[in-house]
Amino acid sequence: MIEVQQLTKSFGKHEVLKGITTTVERGEVVALIGPSGSGKSTFLRCLNLLETPTSGTITVAGKTITDPKADIVRIRQGIGMVFQHFNLFPHLTVMDNITFAPRKVKGLSNEETRQKALELLRKVGLEDKADVYPARLSGGQKQRVAIARSLAMEPEIMLFDEPTSALDPEMVKEVLAVIRDLAGSGMTMMIVTHEMKFAREAAGTIYFLDQGRLIEKAKPSDFFERPQSERAIQFLEQVL
Ligand code: ADP
Ligand code: MG
Repeated sequence: MIEVQQLTKSFGKHEVLKGITTTVERGEVVALIGPSGSGKSTFLRCLNLLETPTSGTITVAGKTITDPKADIVRIRQGIGMVFQHFNLFPHLTVMDNITFAPRKVKGLSNEETRQKALELLRKVGLEDKADVYPARLSGGQKQRVAIARSLAMEPEIMLFDEPTSALDPEMVKEVLAVIRDLAGSGMTMMIVTHEMKFAREAAGTIYFLDQGRLIEKAKPSDFFERPQSERAIQFLEQVL
């Protein structure tokens, strides 16, 4: 589903990604972990071209998105992204937040998008919130709406960048439960997270990034029980 070859990204002279090569299969769930500043967000942002890679190639579902002729807008439609801060439209109801892009971008009818949105709200446990404004929701509810909004575009891939880092502890669980369900449904996903227990349970593969390099790629049980690198061992000592 995703093929990354020798990806580098520099900001000025600072090389933040130093040649990442990897393949993600359809339906694979990858948890991306590593110290702050190791390049996790930059890597995710390169995958949907929110950042332009400096060199290397990225292929998504057979399309080389790093090709200068690639249709970036079209490619982004197939890749949902959920951030730490939910960025809901404050002046739109939950329903309109979810149906806005499918109507504008895909040209779907109000009725079609409403039906689909209600289904998604059910999936994230918020069917009773369709008509409220974001200001009336808790952080965990906002994030679940943000996930539903991404799913409304029917992406083939979902990227999550620390989706629970801005939440109060009691709301982390409800958001992780939604992401876990999605993982079980066969969606291809990459999740940057500091929730090690969640990474271990929900991901099929752990990527450990350090200083712009993908230095370990392993099944969760292997990574957490037998980390191979000194850096991963140190990191796990700090976070576990
Ligand atoms: P992580 O998500 O692992 O904490 P990031 O990908 O956000 O790491 O950042 C990696 C490095 O790239 C950091 O040193 C950060 O300061 C730098 N960086 C990220 N985005 C930019 C940018 N837009 N301009 C300059 N430097 C950036
Ligand atoms: Mg980050």
